[in-house]
Amino acid sequence: MAEVRLEGITKRFGGKTAVNDLNLTIEDQEFLTLVGPSGCGKSTTLRMICGLERASEGNIFFDGKPVSWLPANKRDVAMVFQSYALYPHKTVRQNIGFALKMMRVPKATIAEQVLQAARTLDIEDLLDRKPRELSGGQRQRVALGRAIVRDAGAYLLDEPLSNLDAQLRVLMRAEIKRLHVDVARTFIYVTHDQVEAMTMSDRIAVMRDGVVQQCATPEEIYERPANRFVASFMGSPPMNFLTGELADVDGVRTFRSGALSQELGRYDVSPDDPAVVLGVRPEDVTLSPTPVAGYQPGKVFVSEPLGPDVLVTVRIDGELLKARVPVPFRLGHDSTVYVGFNQNRLHVFKASDGTALQ
Ligand code: ATP
Repeated sequence: MAEVRLEGITKRFGGKTAVNDLNLTIEDQEFLTLVGPSGCGKSTTLRMICGLERASEGNIFFDGKPVSWLPANKRDVAMVFQSYALYPHKTVRQNIGFALKMMRVPKATIAEQVLQAARTLDIEDLLDRKPRELSGGQRQRVALGRAIVRDAGAYLLDEPLSNLDAQLRVLMRAEIKRLHVDVARTFIYVTHDQVEAMTMSDRIAVMRDGVVQQCATPEEIYERPANRFVASFMGSPPMNFLTGELADVDGVRTFRSGALSQELGRYDVSPDDPAVVLGVRPEDVTLSPTPVAGYQPGKVFVSEPLGPDVLVTVRIDGELLKARVPVPFRLGHDSTVYVGFNQNRLHVFKASDGTALQ
């Protein structure tokens, strides 16, 4: 059992605040991902949880017990780093068993636990090899083996897939997700890759400049981003943003930007300031070769086939807008196209501070 609670955690390095008043509870056996751009404080947060870094302010609790003053080796956690940190001269078996040896676990028990971890990760036949005789994916599995053999309450993973090529990353992503189910422990995962965060996590905490912007399920983060930053960071290709203002047109709330006029049904909150930004995901944009009521004319700028879909960039009113539409899409460059939005899936953010209006 390992519930991890961060209470008012702040970390300063000299004058730089890397993590600012972080409050977060990671439930027992949850898979929580800290995601955000480089330098937002993800790794520092993880290092404070595992005890490699001490918070400037605030407290960390494991299952309700304060651990802020416990050194890393006294905390019930195991960490997997981006650089696998394997011992080059030791075999896979020795690498996986090393932490147990240091803890003076009896040899027979070590052998048994190493074998069990190797079976879980499907690397049983590699146990006598040295790290240099392994592929990147196999090395990453050994690094995971070194962590899971410890049977810790929480596993902390810092960008464990970032050294792997794209194909292997997709494979290992699924394997780590499955591993979480098999070992039934708390996983706290750090990545800057929003796809990893979306696909693997029970909940995602999106960070920016040391501050958690939103912590919610992947669905909620995608469907109801709390602000423009979260909306732009999560989703690929990213959400389109159009700057304009809200107006009341015959009692209907409407977004206006130049010639573009879009009815907004579901927004009941009125901002003090009508200046807003409309957010539209590429899959919520529809294109028609012929005029449709409520659609705006634009010109095809470029189209990029993605397999089942085509990513079409349209120039509309001086702005470039991305639409993800099903194949076939046959309009050539500079053809006129009519652009519509799925009214039920639009997002409106205050222009002033980017907060979402619900
Ligand atoms: P990345 O994805 O690039 O690893 P991150 O989100 O994990 O980034 P951190 O490594 O947590 O970010 O760093 C957060 C901020 O704190 C950065 O501005 C970084 O330069 C700073 N920082 C981290 N460690 C130290 C340190 N030991 N001394 C001084 N500044 C540090």
